[in-house]
Amino acid sequence: RFLPDQGSTRAAVIGMGYMGSTVAATLAGEGVDVVGIDVDPALIAQLEQRRCPFSEPGLPELLHSGLDSGRLRVTTDYGEVSDADVVIIAVGTPVQDTRLVDFYLRAACTKLAGQLREGQLVILKSTVPPGVSRKIVAPLLEGGGLAVGEDFGLAFCPERLSEGRALHELRTFPIAVGGWCPDSAAAAAAFWQRTIDAEIIICGSMESAEMVKLANNWWIDHNIAMANELAKLCAVLDVDVLQVIAAANTMRKGTGNVNILLPSVGVGGSCLTKDPWMAWRAARDHGVELATIPVAREVNDAMPGYTVDLITEELARAGRPLADAKIAVLGVAFKNNTGDLRATPVLPVVTGLREGGAEVAVFDPLADAAEVEKVFGVAQAQTAREALAGADCIAVLARHDEFAEIDFVALRESVAPSCVIVDGRAYYSPETIDRFRRHGFSYRGIGR
Ligand code: NAD
Repeated sequence: RFLPDQGSTRAAVIGMGYMGSTVAATLAGEGVDVVGIDVDPALIAQLEQRRCPFSEPGLPELLHSGLDSGRLRVTTDYGEVSDADVVIIAVGTPVQDTRLVDFYLRAACTKLAGQLREGQLVILKSTVPPGVSRKIVAPLLEGGGLAVGEDFGLAFCPERLSEGRALHELRTFPIAVGGWCPDSAAAAAAFWQRTIDAEIIICGSMESAEMVKLANNWWIDHNIAMANELAKLCAVLDVDVLQVIAAANTMRKGTGNVNILLPSVGVGGSCLTKDPWMAWRAARDHGVELATIPVAREVNDAMPGYTVDLITEELARAGRPLADAKIAVLGVAFKNNTGDLRATPVLPVVTGLREGGAEVAVFDPLADAAEVEKVFGVAQAQTAREALAGADCIAVLARHDEFAEIDFVALRESVAPSCVIVDGRAYYSPETIDRFRRHGFSYRGIGR
């Protein structure tokens, strides 16, 4: 019979993608014996050879030390699940036409059902619409003949980390726990407390925990959409949106300060572009029409086009038509400090610039060169200096920490005399912008 918390230190993570690898490496780093299981043999081979395909700060080192110490093993064999006390599901949950593609989740649960043994606790961490843990995961897991809540436990604990800060956030964000039953919730809470010493928030139900994740990403997407519209207004008023946001965020409201996020070239990645739709679809299926989600998605999806217009306008001001321009794009990942290219908003920007006749060079020190070539249809420059050679415009579209070392002023001679710097991430300080201008660059940022 399933009993809450058995002091377990053995875990299995199913789905060793971005999120699963981060969770598995972190648990192994805390002394948990972890087996990571994935259906992709190429990924497992890469991990075994100590090649981490995810460009997350600190993750390669953590994965390697886990593998070297033997605390972490990786395999394609689901049979290894039986050794674990806690089984974490971390497979992909994409959305197509606002509906969950549950293929990977169903396949994982079906395979897992054949291996489950009494006393195990299954924790779903993949993001899902409300009701999926109860209506899809639980019945599939019971297909192996064991009863949920009786023979094995089930909990939903959303993963709320964001790429670029994943290891830190995984260890510091409180973990929301929704259990099939109180024993399942207690076991999941005890597991996270014992392993990563997490602060726990017990939610009333699995559905409530499922909604926590969707509410978080709905809020982020909506907040960025507001920041993007604020930036558009500031731009026509000749007001610096960064100053407005910094000052606006000093106001206290409710339990803390106002927190307007930064405007940008767009919202990409594998979560914010899909998770709000899970909430929207769930609402519609229950006869409730949500207005804010489609609006925020539309505003954010329009930002790459806004950025193309901004670059075109700034180049025209410098006397250079887009069709004759050479543009160096620094940072092609979907956001700062990650090499992840999934749904990157930089792609529609580059496409738009090319459609306008511009020659575009790209450089991203964090992204995989072969991936960049596949997605952008051009080999990326080896260095920032190479990308910048002869550029009429430097567009910084993902602002990685590495770029702090590139001194555009020192490279002044290698770019066009009327070179324009476009800041797609509202990043540069007023002092840096002054310095650019003193050295003959023109500067334009989103909302600045
Ligand atoms: P991913 O595509 O990087 O990884 C998914 C992995 O699951 C792949 O390696 C795939 O081969 C594997 N997989 C698919 N079917 C499988 C099966 N039947 N058995 C075993 N493995 C299988 O996706 P991700 O970015 O890691 O996201 C995974 C989940 O985590 C999603 O629900 C996502 O919304 C959520 N999430 C992701 C992030 C993030 O920053 N990437 C953050 C929080 C939550």
